[in-house]
Amino acid sequence: MTSDILNKLRELLPTDQVLTGEDLNDRYHHIWHMDQALRAKAYLLPKSTEEVSQIMKLCHQHGQAIIVFGGLTNLVGSTETDGDEVIISMEKLNHIEEIDEKSRTITVNSGVVLEQIHQAVKEKNLLFPLNFGAKGSAQIGGIISTNAGGLRVFKYGMTRHMVLGLEVVMADGTIISSMKKIIKDNSAYDLKQLFVGSEGTLGIITKAVLKLVEAPTSRNSAFIGVNEYDQVVNLLKYLDSGLAGNLSGFELIWNHSYRAFTNPSTSVKPPLPYDYKYYVLVESLGNDQQKDHDILSDLLEAALERDMIADASMAHTESDIDWFWRIREDVHVLKSLCNNDQHFDISLPIPLIGTVIADIIERAKDIDEVEECFAFGHVADGNIHFIFGKSEQTDEVISKINDLVYGQLKAIGGSVSAEHGIGNHKKPYLHLCRSTEEIALMKLLKKSMDPLGLLNPGKILDMSLPD
Ligand SMILES: Cc1cc2nc3c(=O)[nH]c(=O)nc-3n(C[C@H](O)[C@H](O)[C@H](O)COP(=O)(O)OP(=O)(O)OC[C@H]3O[C@@H](n4cnc5c(N)ncnc54)[C@H](O)[C@@H]3O)c2cc1C
Repeated sequence: MTSDILNKLRELLPTDQVLTGEDLNDRYHHIWHMDQALRAKAYLLPKSTEEVSQIMKLCHQHGQAIIVFGGLTNLVGSTETDGDEVIISMEKLNHIEEIDEKSRTITVNSGVVLEQIHQAVKEKNLLFPLNFGAKGSAQIGGIISTNAGGLRVFKYGMTRHMVLGLEVVMADGTIISSMKKIIKDNSAYDLKQLFVGSEGTLGIITKAVLKLVEAPTSRNSAFIGVNEYDQVVNLLKYLDSGLAGNLSGFELIWNHSYRAFTNPSTSVKPPLPYDYKYYVLVESLGNDQQKDHDILSDLLEAALERDMIADASMAHTESDIDWFWRIREDVHVLKSLCNNDQHFDISLPIPLIGTVIADIIERAKDIDEVEECFAFGHVADGNIHFIFGKSEQTDEVISKINDLVYGQLKAIGGSVSAEHGIGNHKKPYLHLCRSTEEIALMKLLKKSMDPLGLLNPGKILDMSLPD
């Protein structure tokens, strides 16, 4: 059976697009696990939508499960394999087809890396606003499949707000194409949105039309020290109103994480002393560098005078801005300080963040195996990340920490995933933020779009459990 489908895949694709056996040794399932050899039946490298469709027709005939690989930067185990799957990697489907300056759209293959899009549209004085630490590896297909968020959601929204058109290959190989550049389209169900955030479980994204905006010509940033969480919330309202729509980033870093992000082994110096409980990193995007710099600077000076904040450091040059954001974006620094790292990405009402997170950090001290606990996040979106380091990687310890972090979410109307998705790791906790009826409807959708359960099996939903 296995050799049958492998032979057919080899007949379908050129030799260098079908990797098996020892050729898999230098492949991996995640950029942070390059030392673990990939377990899979075969690794395919299609170069066109037609090839993806032919692969899926074959897999459908043979009941062969597949996993799509994008940039492999997800943080929920959604590209983990068990050895029986065929991998479809999108890395060779990586062309930018068109930048339409008048429609302000870009049309791309799904294997195009986010940073490539940033560079290409910058040359046309346009901006694709999505931005996050993994931009040098994450591919647009993976980004759409996880509905990624990041550092500018507050101003521009999540990925789903930027997708105008999609081309998708379904489980049976059917190609669904709606590559329109129009902004409004209420002609019945918005099918493309089904695939946004579905983590490769409903279809394989091969192309996308993305919405662009005019590139701002000014960018300003500041690091701000604050000692009370209520001041963080007040500062958000104050800057949002004072910057009149130009506030584009508002990131919160707890003191312990700030120290770690800027520890001596990194090449970055701390812009502010280690004296404050919280550090807020803000970004404003506008159209007049000097004027916008002065507006932010004046607002911060007034905030200092009124004791709304404890300290602030303005970035005065482009390299200052890069320095500030490198601190926040280099999450790998925190990960490298953790044994057996465990990541969280929770959503909660903004006013409750201070007390809920303080409570989690305090109670984590009672778990003997917890060695590290870093908190930081996109506070203006109500989205906080945690990275825990621990002495043991047993299921029991993992569950203890999950129970600690997720414990209060249902009662306060939060979510176990603000932006990373569910994948493998959060599957047992989906019921904390989705009702039984919602999960049943999700399963119905999965069954009707992928009746043989071939696409990324076992991820998001446990189809073997009763509804
Ligand atoms: C340092 C770092 C910082 C990060 N910061 C953020 C952040 O701020 N915000 C945020 O939202 N995320 C963040 N992430 C998580 C991650 O970068 C995102 O989830 C990203 O969108 C994943 O894209 P990818 O191409 O790496 O996808 P992969 O990891 O390759 O895949 C993710 C999922 O999408 C599926 N998939 C991939 N390509 C396709 C396709 N073409 N069609 C269908 N399914 C597909 C996969 O099967 C898998 O289920 C961060 C990760 C790292 C390592």
